[in-house]
Amino acid sequence: GKPIKIAVIPGDGIGKEVMAEALKVLSQLQQRDSSLQIVTTVFPWSSDYYMQHGCMMPQDALATLKGYDAILFGAIGDVRVPDDVTVWELIMPIRKQFQQYVNFRPIKALPGIASPLANGKDIDFVIFRENAEGEYSNSGGRIYHNQPQEMTIQNTIMTRIGIEKIVQAACDYAHKYGKSKITSATKSNAIIHSMKFWDEHTQNILAQTSPALTLESIYIDALVAYFVERPQDFEVVVASNLFGDILSDLGSAIVGGLGLSPSANLNPEKEYPSMFEPVHGSAPDIAGKGIANPIAQIWSLALLLGHIGRPDAEDLIVTAIETVLTEGVVKTADIGGQASTVQMGDAICQEIANMKLVARGV
Ligand code: NAD
Ligand code: MN
Repeated sequence: GKPIKIAVIPGDGIGKEVMAEALKVLSQLQQRDSSLQIVTTVFPWSSDYYMQHGCMMPQDALATLKGYDAILFGAIGDVRVPDDVTVWELIMPIRKQFQQYVNFRPIKALPGIASPLANGKDIDFVIFRENAEGEYSNSGGRIYHNQPQEMTIQNTIMTRIGIEKIVQAACDYAHKYGKSKITSATKSNAIIHSMKFWDEHTQNILAQTSPALTLESIYIDALVAYFVERPQDFEVVVASNLFGDILSDLGSAIVGGLGLSPSANLNPEKEYPSMFEPVHGSAPDIAGKGIANPIAQIWSLALLLGHIGRPDAEDLIVTAIETVLTEGVVKTADIGGQASTVQMGDAICQEIANMKLVARGV
C-alpha cells in the first residue's frame, strides 16, 4: 500500500530533544517490521522560526499539513515569544482547523514508577477533554483601559453539537474497551449558563445512544479531590476544555509526572489529520541539558501508530516502555534516576530490538 505520511513538528526546548528519541524508536520499529511503511517530514515551525519570520508557521502551513495522515508534535514555548502567541499561532490553529475536538489522555499507573499518592496503585482511566471550543476562546475583550472601571469579558462558547461529539467519543471508547461508567466534570451550580447546558446535553447523549453506561456528574472542585483520594474509581472522564486541561495535568501527576504522559488530539472521523503530543511543554528549566524524559513523546508516537491502524506497533512500544521501567535500570531525573534523554531512548530501542529476537526464536 501507500506509505503513511507523518508530519513532524519538534518545536522548542525539550520538544526537539525528546522528538529525536521518538524518531529513533520509529526507525527501530521499521527495521523490525518492513510492513511499517512510514515517511516522515520534519517542519521547523517553532519560536526560532518566529524570531526569523515573524510568525510561528508559514501562511500555507495548514494546507501543507492537510496532506499528511497524522502529525507528531513536540512542545513549544520560549521566553522570547509570548506564550499566547506560540499557542494561538501554532497549536490552536492546528487543533481547530483539523477539528481535533477530542483531546485523549490515558492516565495509567506504570510499573516501577512511584505515585506521589499513598494509595496510587492500579490507577487506569482515560480523560476525554473537549478540545475545540469551551472556555478556550478568543471571544471577549477589555474596555476602560487604565481607568478605575477597567474591565474584561472572556466568553465561553459551548455548542450542542460540540458537547454531543465529545461525549459520544467518550461513550464509543467505553463500549470499545468494556467500560461501564462515564464521569462528567461539571460546575453547573455556579456557572449556570454553560455548565448547565453541558450537563443537559451530556445526559441526553447518554440516554439516547448509551443507556447501558452509568453517568456520574461531579463538580470539578470535588472531582480533583477524588482524583487524589480514590483515583481507582474512574474509568472514562469527560470534561470541557478548561476542566479537562486541569484534570489531565493532575492525572499525569498522580501516575508519575509530565515526563510520562502522552496525549492525542483526535479527529475521530479521520477526515483531517490528528495530532499526537506529550502533555508537557518545552520545559525551559531543563532544556539543553539532555535530561528530559522522552517517554511521553515516544508514547505519543505509539498512540499515533494505533490511530493510523497499527495497534500492534502501539502495543510493542508501550510494552518496551513498561519493560524498561520495570527493570528500573535506566531512569531519567524526573523519575528518580540519572539517565540522559538519549540513554532512555536507546534503552527503549534496545527493548524493541530484543523483542524481535524473541519473535524470531518462536
Ligand atoms: P512544562 O511542562 O514545560 O514544565 C513543567 C515542569 O515539568 C518543569 O519543571 C519541567 O522541567 C518538567 N518537565 C516537563 N516535561 C518534562 C520531561 N519530559 N522530562 C522531565 N521533566 C519534565 O510546563 P511550563 O513550565 O508550565 O511551561 C513551559 C513552556 O511550555 C511555556 O512556554 C508554556 O507555554 C509551554 N507549554 C507548551 C505546551 C505545548 O506545547 N502543548 C504545553 C504546556 C506548556
Ligand atoms: Mn495543560
